[in-house]
Amino acid sequence: MAELSFKVLMIGPAAVGKSSLIRRFVEDKFTLTYKFTIGVDFSTKTIEYAPEKIARVTIWDIGGQDRFKTLRRNFYEGTHGALIVFDLSRAQTFPKMKEWISDMYLILGERIPIVILGNKMDLISEIGEVIDKEEAQHFAEMMDSIYIETSAKSGDNVKKAFVELAKKIVNKAFNK
Ligand code: GDP
Ligand code: MG
Repeated sequence: MAELSFKVLMIGPAAVGKSSLIRRFVEDKFTLTYKFTIGVDFSTKTIEYAPEKIARVTIWDIGGQDRFKTLRRNFYEGTHGALIVFDLSRAQTFPKMKEWISDMYLILGERIPIVILGNKMDLISEIGEVIDKEEAQHFAEMMDSIYIETSAKSGDNVKKAFVELAKKIVNKAFNK
């Protein structure tokens, strides 16, 4: 069987943990030092999205440029799906994350499969909940998406996030 190959975007406001989630998924590593992502970075990993079903995923990590920069259009082209991230420790990243979705759909001119991630779930026990989980879940349903809470620090649900997105991409491709 030919191996499937997907292009996946990791997008969302600054410092929510996009690069850290990719690093955790690809290298299984984490650091607390913040390194600003310059331009665009990408990495590849194979993923078993169902028993004995393998896909090669190229993950594109976007830097902190303004959302409307021309670069973004090139960056989005040919994308099969996206992980949209906000930060569970900073409430303002939730509405900002929504803007990232609408801007992406505007640029692409179509709706691609997305999974919404509330990252840094490890911080909830320290600082308490600043974002209502039900609201996040409800929003994801409205967007025909799913909501997953992750931690790049502990690794919780990171693989799951990529697997769920791959499943959505495959389902869309075969249910046309
Ligand atoms: P990006 O700008 O979205 O790519 O964010 P980074 O991946 O660079 O992460 C921003 C900061 O948040 C860094 O200091 C990370 O160490 C930290 N960080 C990222 N993910 C987590 C997480 O799951 N838990 C905690 N506690 N910190 C995180
Ligand atoms: Mg980054």
